[in-house]
Amino acid sequence: MSGTDASLGDGLASDALVLFGATGDLARKKLFPALLRLSEQRRLPDVVVGIGRSPWDTEQLREHARSGVTLDTPEREAAFDRLCRSLRYVQGDYGDPELYRALVAALDRRERPLLYLAIPPSVFTTVIGGLRDAGLADHSRLVLEKPFGRDLASARELNACVLAVFDESQVFRIDHFLGKEEVLDLLVLRFANTFLEPTWNRQFIASVQITMAEEFGVEGRGGFYDEVGTLRDVVQNHLLEVLTLVAMEPPAGTDATALRDERVKVLRAMPPLEPDDVVRGQFEGYLNEDGVAPDSEMETFVALKATIDSWRWAGVPFYIRAGKSLAATVTEVLVEYQPPPRLLFAPDDQPCPHPNHLRLRIKPDERMSFGVQIKAPGEQMVSRQVDLSYAYDEDRDGVRDDAYARLLGDALVGDQRLFARADGVEEAWRIVAPLLEHPGPVHAYAAGSWGPTAADALIGDDGGWHEPAVDTTSAADEGTEMRATTAPTASDPESDAGTAA
Ligand code: NDP
Repeated sequence: MSGTDASLGDGLASDALVLFGATGDLARKKLFPALLRLSEQRRLPDVVVGIGRSPWDTEQLREHARSGVTLDTPEREAAFDRLCRSLRYVQGDYGDPELYRALVAALDRRERPLLYLAIPPSVFTTVIGGLRDAGLADHSRLVLEKPFGRDLASARELNACVLAVFDESQVFRIDHFLGKEEVLDLLVLRFANTFLEPTWNRQFIASVQITMAEEFGVEGRGGFYDEVGTLRDVVQNHLLEVLTLVAMEPPAGTDATALRDERVKVLRAMPPLEPDDVVRGQFEGYLNEDGVAPDSEMETFVALKATIDSWRWAGVPFYIRAGKSLAATVTEVLVEYQPPPRLLFAPDDQPCPHPNHLRLRIKPDERMSFGVQIKAPGEQMVSRQVDLSYAYDEDRDGVRDDAYARLLGDALVGDQRLFARADGVEEAWRIVAPLLEHPGPVHAYAAGSWGPTAADALIGDDGGWHEPAVDTTSAADEGTEMRATTAPTASDPESDAGTAA
């Protein structure tokens, strides 16, 4: 987020950046491109240390970094050269105190490093202990990558381990969804306008649907996905975060405490999910993927109905569906308004299934549209639906900040607004806990469909799923209904199984 707020941590920028797991996939594909962006903006400290066990030298690390970035302009080349000059590699074993002594030497008297753990969670405890013993925890900031545990018990354990050494104000838990321009637009739409607020509640809103569909499968990462599944991969974290932005109360301020308090309050008001309100699916062919157990019952699709027991939302169902090998790649939020009390202009006296809605499409292109009823042309006094639509992308001139660059930039100055807090992570695990304990049956679905038919029954009473709109032509321009079509290619997968493909 922009650094114009008064509440940016202690105000002191980190004076070095340390990347544990610098030899890895996340570092190459997401973190080095983000560091390059920060270097372009001259926001990167002049000491960047990469750490790994691999017997590399600094030149090899630079090559690794180069393989992850696109250097298509002289400015970018220059920014990459600056990054390379700052970069040094420290090799060692995370259990060996010598590694941390070498890190202190590489920091060259920098005292407030940002420490990024891009390593498997199984090594977190060892590294955090090593940092503590070397006196490196006191003035540092710590960035953790998801997964923040596998369930409530392991999330609590991880939080306890981290918070025994670091204060919560030093900890930055990355959920890259919260750094997405498209997701932040939701926050601005809600709280920079007055016209929505009077209707943004149970009096007017019938239901909310959040969809994250991917038309591709597990993309060679069957072994990883079979341990995780859709619920852990994207629902417990990304999609519940999106839900909190839709449902949160106006925050008392724009500081990290105010924003995160409101997001966590939404989660607190959500009862644990009932297994009857969840449908799990598995696409046909999943069992033939490399690394997948031949009798696996892991879900590649989830549809669920959640509720929020608050004055604003009691009785309003929040539906979430996410999955792989679906009919399209699209992420969107759809807020469905209640039908009018009298159907004065319904053709053939039939109620329109979706009279008004607000659709916020996050991916593949970013678009906001309002579904409204207008008079159908002709003699009859009947209505028809059109979408009033705005395409954010047309305004951006191709400029889009990457989520990782935004979040790393925020962490460097101690701005925690877009990071998950310990209590929020635990609340999210509490909500999904019954499904982890009693996962229920998994229904087969055809690749390229919208998931198992049982998912349609789940939402049947509330008018069915909206077909996600993934046509990029502007309905508003044409004065026609926005057409639902299928998938563009998947260029930027969101789930971990996709990102590493
Ligand atoms: P990798 O498997 O590529 O591991 C990163 C680095 O950690 C490796 O290069 C390796 O470096 C080191 N490492 C691997 N296993 C061990 C081990 N058992 N003990 C010590 N070091 C080890 O992971 P990713 O880069 O894909 O991901 C890093 C973290 O980020 C993980 O927690 C992952 O869940 C999370 N994540 C990853 C995403 C992605 O797109 N890849 C997306 C979201 C989260 P070396 O051998 O040189 O020490």
